[in-house]
Amino acid sequence: MIIFEHLEKRDHEQVVFCSDKKTGLRAIVAIHNTNLGPALGGTRMWTYATDEEALVDVLRLSRGMTYKAAVAGLNLGGGKAVIIGDPNKDKNEALFRAFGRFVEGLAGRYITAEDVGTDVRDMEFVRMETKYVTGIDKALGGSGDPSPVTGFGVYMGMKASMKELTGSDSLSGKKIAVQGAGHVAQFVCEHLTKEGAKVYICDIFPDKVKAVADKVRAEVVAPEKIYEVDADLFCPCALGAIVNDATIPKFKFKAIAGGANNQLADEAKHGQMLIERGIMYAPDYAINAGGLINVYNELEGYSQERALKQAEGIYDTILKIFAISKRDGVPTYEASNRLAEERINAIGRIKTIYAGKSQFVGRLGENDFGKR
Ligand code: NAD
Repeated sequence: MIIFEHLEKRDHEQVVFCSDKKTGLRAIVAIHNTNLGPALGGTRMWTYATDEEALVDVLRLSRGMTYKAAVAGLNLGGGKAVIIGDPNKDKNEALFRAFGRFVEGLAGRYITAEDVGTDVRDMEFVRMETKYVTGIDKALGGSGDPSPVTGFGVYMGMKASMKELTGSDSLSGKKIAVQGAGHVAQFVCEHLTKEGAKVYICDIFPDKVKAVADKVRAEVVAPEKIYEVDADLFCPCALGAIVNDATIPKFKFKAIAGGANNQLADEAKHGQMLIERGIMYAPDYAINAGGLINVYNELEGYSQERALKQAEGIYDTILKIFAISKRDGVPTYEASNRLAEERINAIGRIKTIYAGKSQFVGRLGENDFGKR
């Protein structure tokens, strides 16, 4: 049975196939692990070539969410959903509401959000059928744009990286190369220049980068030159796979600490190449966890102040990852996975302690959820 083989390969708890012929909905929800709390992860809409491709994608992504939530210290498990279809052609209210009903049927084991191919408007339709949805507009009581919190968390991770490199976390006078002048980068740069760092920034859109550079007092460089900047830190905030065979030889950076997802083109190969070149790497999913921290707070009645306070913890998380990397002699991306597994196992164990008839099921308990 090929499906159970896929589930066992990555240790998944549950996979739900959702089908509604009338709306054309074909979706898969994957719940990887709920040891720490309900599985949270976005819904991706994509034109998968085969059902198996969609299954493998949702299994891979949901497992990633387990690790991300665990490392961020959140009481969340890992989940993800995919809707098979073309986001430019196949979207409609009924489709997302049908999907929302399936999510509601999972009774809080899975909480959804937007992802590639879905947006806040789609989640509004989902929300008409279920309370188990995040990433809702601020005007509707949601957490809105996660970038301020993501940006602050990345800044904290950069300071931790500098602490590891030099013994001091001050970024004053340090040179930093930022790739991308988008949402996350803008907030990162504001913190950096406020602290007195010298920022170099690029973007593929010249007008955009100029506006951001003027605002945060950064120096513009051409997109292809960013890899060669003689800077202390490299902060990728645009695309994935930018740490690869072609770029690593150009680096003069001492560390990479940025917000982009999937920075290493090949984790094992390029993680090793960075070690050989003596370049430290703050794992992407640990340093950019501010976005997840932001939606987590939406579940408890959103407060940006609280979200920012939690994102401050990324500083300690990054230091812990460097410590595990040294302790176990493994690359930092592997150390990050170990930190996540240690927490999942430790918290899993305490749940075996009988706590009487307590109805308390954590700050994000099913008892409280839904009262917002
Ligand atoms: P964004 O679209 O606002 O910004 C990305 C910027 O990168 C754009 O301005 C784009 O023009 C630029 N860009 C694209 N290709 C480039 C290239 N080759 N060279 C230079 N610039 C290029 O996106 P964002 O929300 O700021 O997210 C940035 C990254 O951080 C993404 O990888 C995203 O997945 C990740 N991330 C974002 C959040 C969040 O809260 N927004 C949370 C976690 C992770």
